[in-house]
Amino acid sequence: MDISRLIDPLNEPQRQAVCTDSQHTLVLAGAGSGKTRVLTHRIAYLVETGQASSFGVLAVTFTNKAAKEMRSRIESLMMQPPKGMWVGTFHSLAHRLLKTHYVEAKLPEQFQVLDSDDQLRLVKRIVKDLNLDDTKWQPKSAQWFINGQKDEGKRFKHIPPSSDFHEQGMLKIYEQYELICQQTGVVDFAELLLRAHELWLNNPEVLKHYQERFRHVLVDEYQDINSIQYAWLRVLCGENANLMVVGDDDQSIYGWRGAKVENILRFSEDFPKVETVKLEQNYRSSGHILKAANAVIDNNSGRLGKELWTDDEDGETIRLYAAYNEHDEARFIADDIDGQSDEFNEMAILYRSNAQSRVIEEHLIRMSIPYRIFGGHRFYDRLEIKNAMCYLRMMLNRHDDTAMERIINLPVRGIGNKSIDTMRIFARDQGISFWQAASQIVEHKILPNRACSAIEGFLTLINDIDSQSDEMNLAEITDFIIKQSNLIAHHQKEKGEKGRTRVENLKELVSAAASFINESDNSDLSEFVSQASLDAGDNQADTHEQAVSLMTLHSAKGLEFDRVYLAGLEEQLFPHKMSMDDPDGLQEERRLCYVGITRARKHLCISYAESRRLYGNEQFNASSRFIREIPNEHLQEIRLNSQVSRPVMFTETPKEIMSDSGFQLGQDVNHPVFGRGVILSCEGIGTNARVEVQFIESTKWLMLQFAKLEAV
Ligand code: ATP
Ligand code: MG
Repeated sequence: MDISRLIDPLNEPQRQAVCTDSQHTLVLAGAGSGKTRVLTHRIAYLVETGQASSFGVLAVTFTNKAAKEMRSRIESLMMQPPKGMWVGTFHSLAHRLLKTHYVEAKLPEQFQVLDSDDQLRLVKRIVKDLNLDDTKWQPKSAQWFINGQKDEGKRFKHIPPSSDFHEQGMLKIYEQYELICQQTGVVDFAELLLRAHELWLNNPEVLKHYQERFRHVLVDEYQDINSIQYAWLRVLCGENANLMVVGDDDQSIYGWRGAKVENILRFSEDFPKVETVKLEQNYRSSGHILKAANAVIDNNSGRLGKELWTDDEDGETIRLYAAYNEHDEARFIADDIDGQSDEFNEMAILYRSNAQSRVIEEHLIRMSIPYRIFGGHRFYDRLEIKNAMCYLRMMLNRHDDTAMERIINLPVRGIGNKSIDTMRIFARDQGISFWQAASQIVEHKILPNRACSAIEGFLTLINDIDSQSDEMNLAEITDFIIKQSNLIAHHQKEKGEKGRTRVENLKELVSAAASFINESDNSDLSEFVSQASLDAGDNQADTHEQAVSLMTLHSAKGLEFDRVYLAGLEEQLFPHKMSMDDPDGLQEERRLCYVGITRARKHLCISYAESRRLYGNEQFNASSRFIREIPNEHLQEIRLNSQVSRPVMFTETPKEIMSDSGFQLGQDVNHPVFGRGVILSCEGIGTNARVEVQFIESTKWLMLQFAKLEAV
């Protein structure tokens, strides 16, 4: 037995944690100090020394990407695939349990996972059905309420009646929501966890089986665990399991989703004889980056307190780019990436909000830089893909109301909103599914003839596709469905780029199905559909191809890259306006910033835009306070072509600006979207030149570089 390869690449405290004999171990340490390394080495060590079989290990982390990396890391340390080992996110493990024990969990075999869009749609419908005023009971807050209750382990029946009128409404929505989910066999993300926990509580024999099996349980990113996850874990571990958790209170970023730092402290109370190990040496980031991160997080109070140091050189200072607007920022990043010799896989662009990615994508595409998006606007979140997936879901379960409601008139087949409302009310009153309601309405001719035959057309279409695709494999079924449903034809009719991309994406779905067959042991339709809801977009680009990673700061947790771009460091955006005024919220934003900075190994570039169009509004925000919290000695401001990056407001005369651009004041121009107009004024030169144009309907400031103006 040669365990030196597992032990040698560790420092003393890491080795202590990996080889510990304690039943309960807490590794509490800052970013990049080797927590994940400890966890993977510990797993390999346990198997190698015969203390555990790979079958008896369960390891949990928080994102799909992190789980994937953990598995491959373990595999390379063990020099063989970790057979039978459960490595995954809380959600994926819960899903797996519920699939295996659907009977005990009181679920249909083909239960479907409801993603948050579908969930919102369902809540909206319920608010409407209950005749509640949706300005007072906003579907989004009701969704928030429901998930919050579930995260605390509370079902409707657990909540005492309220005397508060508003809360009474929320409870009614929750009650109805639970009912419909149960009737239609769908499970939202929070429900996966709650039900997996109830599976333990209600089925002692199932619990016993897993308790006997998983003698070693290990949790990464422990600081982000919420109440229901904690409860699930605690019950699973019981008295006998060996539990190691690793985490960093400074990286707790899911407070809004019920995660509590107190769970770290609670660990020592709930589990007896905990050994605590601290790691203080950072192996990831060079000096300037680490010191900047330390300086930022130092502004938070109530920390458990850890100092991180590095042996590494100070390295490159952090570059700071003040962009003129979001396009300038994205163009700068794309240009900069294009000029680097690093591998694309070693670069990441991180942002606070998903909506920021679109402009960045645009500029990456323009420069032909391959990229992959994790989380957020992932492949399976795209509208056309979700529609197609709903057809697939209908193949599995006709009573999947959410799916049916989405596609019953998509592509348009003459079923109006009124008919849909009637079906919905009918279904509700009779306590039956949407599909059953539709069938009965057709049978008893409850709606006018035209409507009935349109609905019948839909029912027949679904039944026909199902029976004709009986013998097909997954990729063939998918291909068959997108054609038979007329989805392809529907998007082909859409004009321009948008329709084309949608058609391409639908075809990509067939490839995704084909590669799913190759990559998984169980390639049936239901597995594919579930995976699509759980998946964080890994299928959107060929996984072997080098690509720059794009993701929100939340999804970047636990990952590292040689070169990191942190985009959009502006007040209101980051710290986010929703959290800025609340001290706890602000501290959480700061931890998020700490997570962002500490993703970088060697190069970090921070940018902000002086004006930004986001969600359709133009905003002018100051640079983020987090930039000011970084001591100057670690920062270096970038100026492009020795010219300040900010627009040189009218230091040139309008005449000079215009001759530089080839346009003149007062000139008639044509714009592809806004049509004919006249140039009124101008500012900035070169790539920063902007003009003000009076169009027929409005006056607009446009960046000359992007506006595609033509002189007429
Ligand atoms: P985070 O808090 O961001 O999740 P972490 O504490 O989990 O970070 P790791 O990702 O495990 O840190 O380690 C950070 C980097 O440092 C990795 O590239 C890892 O391989 C390296 N590393 C950790 N420990 C050592 C060591 N003893 N010797 C050399 N490199 C190390
Ligand atoms: Mg880690």
